[in-house]
Order: sequence, then C-alpha cells, then structure tokens
Amino acid sequence: MVGSREDMKYIVVTGGVLSGLGKGITASSIGRLLKERGMKVSAVKIDPYLNCDAGTMNPYQHGEVYVLDDGAEADLDLGNYERFLNINLGKDNNITTGKVYRHVIELERKGEFLGETVQIIPHITNEIKRRIKEEGYKARCDVLIIELGGTVGDIESMPFLEAVRQLHTESGHDSCIFVHTTLVPVMSVVGEQKTKPTQHSVKELRSIGIQPDIIVARANKVLPSDIKGKIAMFCDVPTRAVVSCPNAKSIYEVPLILEEQGVADYILERMGIHGKPAPELKAWKRYVNNILESKRELNIAIVGKYTKLKDSYLSHIEALAHCSAQLKVRINIVWVESDSLLKKNKVKKLEKVDGIIIPGGFGGRGKKGKIRAITFARENKVPLLGVCLGFQLSVIEFCRNVMGLEGADSAEFDSECSDPVINLLPGQKDLKEMGGNMRLGSHDIFISKGTKAHATYGLDEIKERHRHRYEVNPKYHERIENAGLKFSGKDELGERMEIAELEDHPFFVASQFHPEFKSRPMKPSPLHLALVKAAMKSKGK
Ligand code: GLN
Repeated sequence: MVGSREDMKYIVVTGGVLSGLGKGITASSIGRLLKERGMKVSAVKIDPYLNCDAGTMNPYQHGEVYVLDDGAEADLDLGNYERFLNINLGKDNNITTGKVYRHVIELERKGEFLGETVQIIPHITNEIKRRIKEEGYKARCDVLIIELGGTVGDIESMPFLEAVRQLHTESGHDSCIFVHTTLVPVMSVVGEQKTKPTQHSVKELRSIGIQPDIIVARANKVLPSDIKGKIAMFCDVPTRAVVSCPNAKSIYEVPLILEEQGVADYILERMGIHGKPAPELKAWKRYVNNILESKRELNIAIVGKYTKLKDSYLSHIEALAHCSAQLKVRINIVWVESDSLLKKNKVKKLEKVDGIIIPGGFGGRGKKGKIRAITFARENKVPLLGVCLGFQLSVIEFCRNVMGLEGADSAEFDSECSDPVINLLPGQKDLKEMGGNMRLGSHDIFISKGTKAHATYGLDEIKERHRHRYEVNPKYHERIENAGLKFSGKDELGERMEIAELEDHPFFVASQFHPEFKSRPMKPSPLHLALVKAAMKSKGK
C-alpha cells in the first residue's frame, strides 16, 4: 500500500570529499525523474549542526534561510525540493542535531527512559529513524529522499549515518538505497581526472557499514568510460551506477543529464519497482531550453549586503530563472554590494540595469546604499521590487525624500529616531529569545482592486510567506498613502501593510512578504514576473 511504513522506499543521498557539491540538486533531480514516472516523492534534509533551525544563522554560514508555509526557517535545500518536486514541505522535513537532541533530552527529563542510560545509540539514532519514517508516512509518498548535509567523515554526521545504516538493515536492501556524491578533480598540469578522493570517501562510508549503490561524480567535464570503470571497480558498484554530473549552465539541466545516463531506471530496477511509464520530460526540456537559449537579454540588479555569497539570495536567483524561462529572456544578475553605492558617483552603475531588486535583510549595515538605490529607481523610473527589508526601506525612503520626514527610520536601526515609520510588530516587544519567533510563514493578504498588485496577481486574496519582526507603523499609514505611496495589499484586518506601490512609476512595488519562496519552474513568482516584464518594457523589448 502506498504510504504504508512497510512499503516505503528510501533514497539516502550522502556527500564525500567536499561540501558544496550540489547534493541537494542531485537529490532533487532524482526526485523529479521519479515524479515524472508517476511516483509520489517527498524529501527530508538532515543538517547535522546543533542549531534547532537555520533561522538563527547568518546567510554567510549556509546561504539564505528558506521559509516554509508553516513558518519553519529551513536550510535552502528545502527550496530546491519544493521547486524541483513542486510540493510544499514543512518543519519536519528539516531534521537538525539540535531538534533531535532537544527532543531526546526533553523525554529523558520527563522520565520516558527511566532506569536507562540514554545514549547516542540507540536513543538518538532511534529518534532520527522515527523522524524520517514519520515524515515518509505523513507525506504518503512512494519514495522518500533523505539528504544528509555535510561530508562523510564529519564528526557531527556520525549519528545520522549510523541511523540510516540501521534504516537500511531494518527496511531491507531493496527498500533503501544509497547515492553518494563525490568530486572528481582535475590536476591542471596533467589534465587527468582523479578518482582517488572518490575512492577514499567511499572507503570512509564503507567503514561505517554503508555501501553506496550509486556514485554521482561531480566534475568539470563528463567522465570518460575508463574513469567510470575505475570508480566502479574500486568502489564496488556496476559501471552504470557511476554517474557523471558535469558543471551545468542551469541547475534545471541536471535532471536531463541524469536521465540520459539512466539513473532513475537503475534506481527503480535496484528497488525492484517494475512497470513504471517512461517519463514525459517534454515540458521540462522546453523549460530548460527557454532558459538557455533566449536571445534577448536583461540586466537585473540585486542590491544587498551578502552579495559575496550568492546563495544568500538563492530564491531570488531561482525566481528570476523561472521568469527567464517564461518570458524567454536571458536575465543577467548584476550583483551590487549595497555599501559600494555610497562611494562618489557609484550609484551610476545602476544606470546600466533594467530593473532592481532590494531583497530582505537584518541590521543597519548596507541600509544607506539600499536607500540610495531606491531613490535612484524612484527618480529615474527604473522598475523596482523591494522585498521585506526592501519594502521597509522603500517606505523609509519615501517618507524621507518625498514627505520630507528627514528623521524617518526603522526602530530596528534607531529606536530613538524622530519618525519610526517602521516599528516592531506587536507581540515582538516582550520576547526574550530569538529563535523561531518572528512573524513567520504563510499569511493571507488582501489586494485592492485597480492597483498594480491586483493586475500582477489577478486575485483579491493571496497567501505568501513572511519572516519579519518589524512593520509599517500604523500611526503613519494614512499620511504615507495621502502622499502617494499606496498600500495595495493588507492583512485580513487591514492593519498590517503588505504591499506598497507608486502610481506614477512604471513599476515601483514592494512587499513585506517574500514572493521568491513560492516561485516554481513554470509558475514564477507573480511579483518577479511583473518586475521583469516592466524591465523588458522600459528597455523596449
Ligand atoms: N529586518 C526586518 C524585520 O525584521 C526585515 C526582515 C527581512 O527582510 N526578512 O522586519
């Protein structure tokens, strides 16, 4: 029976050699290929760090904090799963060491293990397995993909590897398979692809009792058959189970690269699943071609303070890729470090762009540069999309430069300012702890008819995801609107401002919520799409 615990199939994806090999993309791509064969697929991401969730980490640590419908602040790989599999995940799809240990320690304090010595094996490993199985059961899926973050050999990963080893033994050889992603580097002098790091990481995995079934080798180029054969021999897998994953122009190409090498068919065979229809990948191929082959070009600036690590803005990058495919236009992202705009004449670099995104963020660093970019967009009629902090700064910029409220600011940056037009949300004032207590997740937004926001969404009511502590101060709502910045989207009580827009501007729209988190291939975020359309229009394309 589909979704029963007995019949659940597990695909465990591990990583070797180094981090950042794109395990998440490999795992999501495999998921997509199984989904294209009519299977129901879900995913769990394991992050072996001690944080209970990603919400308390700086984006420079692990990239953007991805927000789910239920308000979970999760690892960005959850975004890859949502996008590739077109599903909505929740807090339990992200397991961290912090979550597991906290729960086990709570149980110990309650007396659940009275008389026992509470240990990593079996108490922690049992809790890990319970969480994995529960998730597969809840999702009622045929296949659950489990991605283990980090690299095999990391101390933190050990309990998780032991748990999935046990899961394999308990569920049976056909029901749990291991995909190991590794790196095959090239030494520039000889130009030869080196398999030794892969051999070593598989050796490490085997020493824990896990024999990989499939090896996905990341490399600059396609692996020739002799290299595949060598890996197969040393790592004890059939040659067809060694898969080459060369650098791709778009991550959305990866499912096609894996399909060509028969990965999904091999997985099904290995798991004893027969009779699945051949996948229908026409729409996906068209989608990828549209991204890669668009002749028209557009420059969209992302002005932020974490631009050194592009993953900090991953969902914006992906939302723009989704727009690119939809509108058949190549989008070049121009990364602008916000502080760089403060230097003399540097704001001029924005003259070359066709549209600007001011993304979310925390803290005052970078604020001034972002405000400069907003003034530039407003005055020069450059299409602008402000998101979360970008929304709040658009309001501040308008109050300062159009309404003449020079002291307008956010209480986040200056609690003593003369005009705190952005203030703490009620309920945030008395909080003592910092984890998981912002206004988070999906909330209803009501859109006024006859506005740009309404034309963009074509709906009176939408749901989008949030992650903020501050909001537009209700004391200023009316004055701001009267001065010309319209709040075209509000919460159900009309008390929280969700979308702001200027009338006499081609596209100056900002949202308190994060539209990028719900953008999907073939279904781009409406606000990003509207920004790109406005940018194309102003460029005359
Ligand atoms: N720092 C702002 C707040 O907490 C904006 C948050 C964000 O951009 N995600 O409200």
